[in-house]
Amino acid sequence: MNDKTQSPDQAVETPGNEPRRCGFIAIIGRPNVGKSTLLNHLLRQKISITSRKPQTTRHRITGVHTTSDTQFIYVDTPGLHSNHSRSLNRIMNETVVSVINDVDVILFVVERLQWSPADEQVLKAVAGIPVPVLLIINKVDQVADKTRLLPHIGKLARHNFAEIIPVSALGGHNLEALEETLQHYLPEGPFLFPEEQVTDRSSRFMAAELIREKITRQLGDELPYEITVEIEKFTQDGPVLHIHGLILVDKKGQKQILIGKDGERLKSIGSAARVDMEEVFQTRVMLNLWVKVKSGWADDERALRSLGYIAD
Ligand code: GDP
Ligand code: MG
Repeated sequence: MNDKTQSPDQAVETPGNEPRRCGFIAIIGRPNVGKSTLLNHLLRQKISITSRKPQTTRHRITGVHTTSDTQFIYVDTPGLHSNHSRSLNRIMNETVVSVINDVDVILFVVERLQWSPADEQVLKAVAGIPVPVLLIINKVDQVADKTRLLPHIGKLARHNFAEIIPVSALGGHNLEALEETLQHYLPEGPFLFPEEQVTDRSSRFMAAELIREKITRQLGDELPYEITVEIEKFTQDGPVLHIHGLILVDKKGQKQILIGKDGERLKSIGSAARVDMEEVFQTRVMLNLWVKVKSGWADDERALRSLGYIAD
C-alpha cells in the first residue's frame, strides 16, 4: 500500500483510540446546596469559594479539568434568587439564565432528601432549555437512612432528568461515577484550553475570592453578603508575591466589625487568606488589607459595572 494515501488525521483514528470530547457544564441550584464544593472537587483544586453562608458566589467562574481524552469546562453560577428588588439579585439571575443557555449539559444540584419551592423554581428556569439536565443529589452523607434515597429518586424521576446521581461533594463520594457519566454528554471535539490550565479567571480574581471567603467564614451572619474585594496590587518581587486587597463595605458599622478590636479580626482574615494564597500561587505571599465604606453600592448598577460585575 502506498504510504501517501494515509493522512495524519486518519492515523489518529486507530481502533481503540477514542475521539476527544470537550464541552461546557453549568452547575446550578439554590444557594447552599454545595455547588462550589462540588466544583472544587471536580477541579481537584480550590477555586470557587465555599461557605456556610448562602450567596457567596457572585461571579461566574469557569474552571477546566482535563483528562487524557476529555476536557470538562465548568461554569459555576450564583443561586437563583426569588427577591428581584435589588439590582445585585437581578444581575445574578440574568447571569444564570445566560449561562445555562450556553452550555452542553447542566448539573442541577439539590441536597439530601429535600425538594423545596426554591428547587422547584430552579427546575422551572431550566424547563424550556434544550440542554440535558443531570440531577445531582448532594450531601447524601447526611442522609442517615439510605433506604429513603431510592423512593426519593423515584419521585424525582417524573421530572425527566437525563440522569439522577447521588453524591457527597464534601466527601468526594461517587464523583468519579458522576464524571464518567458526564463525559458522555460532552460533544466530540478538540480541547479549547491548554491541558495544564485550571481556570480562565485571573490570579487577581482568585486572590479576591479567597479574601471574600475568609470574611464570610469568620464573620458569618454578622455581615450581609454585599461585600466586595478589589485587588489593587499584585506583583511578584523576588520570592514574594505582594498583594494589596481593598475590602468595600456598605456601612461604617460593617467596617468596624471587619476590622475588629485593635484590628484583630482583619489580621485573622488576612492571615487565613494568605495561607490559602501561598498554596494556590505556590509562592510566599505578603498580604495587606484595607477596608473602605462604599455606601449603597449593592443598589447602584453603575458601581457594579465599574467593579466588573456587569460586562459593559
Ligand atoms: P453553594 O452555595 O451551593 O455554592 O454551596 P457551598 O459549596 O458553598 O456549600 C454550602 C455548605 O454545604 C458548606 O458548608 C459546605 O461545606 C457544605 N457541603 C457541601 N457539600 C456537602 C456534602 O456533600 N456533605 C456535607 N455534609 N456538606 C456539604
Ligand atoms: Mg457557591
